[in-house]
This record gives sequence, structure tokens and C-alpha cells, in this order.
Amino acid sequence: MSQLKEITKYRGRFAPTPSGMLHFGSLVTAVGSYLDARSHQGEWFVRIEDIDRPRVKVGMSENILSTLELFGLEWDGPVIYQSQCIGRYQEALHFLEALGLIYPCNCTRKEIADSALFEFEGMVYPGNCRNGLHSERNNRPSAVRIKTDTDKVEFHDRLQGRVYQSIENEIGDFVLRRSDGIYTYQLAVVVDDGWQGITHIVRGADLLESTPRQIFLQKLLGYPQPHYLHLPVVTTAQGKKLSKQTLAHPIDAKNPLPQLIAAIDFLGQRPPPELIEGNLNSFWQWAINHWSVTHIARVAYAPL
Ligand code: GLU
Repeated sequence: MSQLKEITKYRGRFAPTPSGMLHFGSLVTAVGSYLDARSHQGEWFVRIEDIDRPRVKVGMSENILSTLELFGLEWDGPVIYQSQCIGRYQEALHFLEALGLIYPCNCTRKEIADSALFEFEGMVYPGNCRNGLHSERNNRPSAVRIKTDTDKVEFHDRLQGRVYQSIENEIGDFVLRRSDGIYTYQLAVVVDDGWQGITHIVRGADLLESTPRQIFLQKLLGYPQPHYLHLPVVTTAQGKKLSKQTLAHPIDAKNPLPQLIAAIDFLGQRPPPELIEGNLNSFWQWAINHWSVTHIARVAYAPL
């Protein structure tokens, strides 16, 4: 499949879902991916992951972009919006269809639950529709799933080390297009990262378990495998990931410096106390020059 341009050296990205404002957890991811890119003299892109329309909140894309700007996170090139790339996801699905690797599924949630095995991420889809749809429900809209296999998908994460998964056993055939017609995150992210020529993915460790599925799709679609770095996830005092559900406070766009310092501190970067006396320029200069992945803890805790 075609790519934006030849892969140069380092091309990183930050890919927020505009379902809420940036909170401390998403700031940590943005800062981590930015520092890793800039300390490698790399490019850094922003992609708005607005494919799941029902989750998108009005005005959030603009809000996220203006917050990034206020914090001094300067992106390269135009911002990509997934909602404007539907043709590419369609093309990828057709490509997989031609390989005989996808099939429609009209199972209800209950049928899946009744016959599923349970794994770490929830239910493993037991492959009910692999050999054909439930004929009594032919008029029900179908999702599209990909046939997986039991081979081990293995990769080395720059922080988390060796990660492996047998997708058929641990996840099952997963959905590429939902029954409401929306392309899923797993397909869209692989197509976008491949098309944009992303070489390094730096994101939260909550996505670690998704990575083998993405590598599986990359191989089928003929995209090169990027390098991965999954950062520790910021949690509440109860150990829950910061999110809209845990009512994470949005970051305060009027006062970037202390929050940026807190973000790199969370990432183990040991900012010197005098950094707070400076400005955004001196902050970024220090942070880029001193960025060190070896200082990041695999699992970190930020009391908020
Ligand atoms: N859009 C995803 C999120 O906001 C991130 C996807 C990714 O970095 O692969 O959690």
C-alpha cells in the first residue's frame, strides 16, 4: 500500500481520541512521544483518532490541538483526521477480503458470552461465524472479523521488554468493522501508522495488549513493523487508569510549566528544581537534551 513519503529516520506520532480534553495521563503520553522523537532529531505528527463518531465530543479536537500548542508541543506537517481517511480503511478491508481472511459475523453479545472463553482482556471470540452466519438472523447487520491463528506474535518493547501473544487463543478473531459500519481502532491505527510511515510508536501501556493484533495486521497488509515504547499509565490513587470515567481533571492550559515538569518527573527524568524558574523554551531544551528511556519506570504511580 502507498505511503505518504519514503520512511526517513524517525517518524513518531501522538494519536488522541477527541472524546474529552487532555488530562495528565494523555499529557504524559504526548510529552513522552514528543521527547523521544525530538531527541532522535525525528519528526512528530498529530493524528486525531475520531473514527468512532459516537465517542467524539464537539470541539474536543480543537481543544486538544490548542492545548498542545500552548504547552509548546510543535507538530510536523498537517494534522491527520481519521474521519477523513475512511477510503483507506475500506481499501485495506478489501485487500484482506481478497486474501480470504475476513468474514461477516452476526452473533449477539449474549451468544458470544455464552460460548466464549475468558482471557485477560475479557472474552475470547470463539469463532462462531467462521463457517457462516446465523441464518435465522440474516437481516441483522453484520460486523466483519479477521481470521486469526495460534502462532505466537512476539515483539520487543523498548521499556516493557519481550511481549508475546497467541491471538486466536487469547483474543480470538477480532472485529475490523463494527455492525454499525464503523472501522475499528485496530484496523485504523495500523493503516494510518503504515500510511504515514511511522517508525516509532510511543504510547500508554494500556495499549500493550493491542500491539500483537496490530503487528498481525501490519504483516498481512505489508507494512513494516515500527519500534514500540509503552509508557507507564497514570492511575488514580485506587489504581484505575485516568480517563473520563475516572473523572480525570483536564490539564490547566493557563499554567503549562509545572504540569510539564510533573509529566517528565512521572517519566523518571529527574528535572532539576531550577527548571521551574525558566520558560517553555528552557524546559523543552533541557527535557530534549536529557531524555533517557532507561530512567522510565515500567510501572509508575502518580499520586494526584
Ligand atoms: N487514540 C488512542 C487513545 O487516545 C491512542 C492510540 C495509539 O496511540 O495507538 O488512547
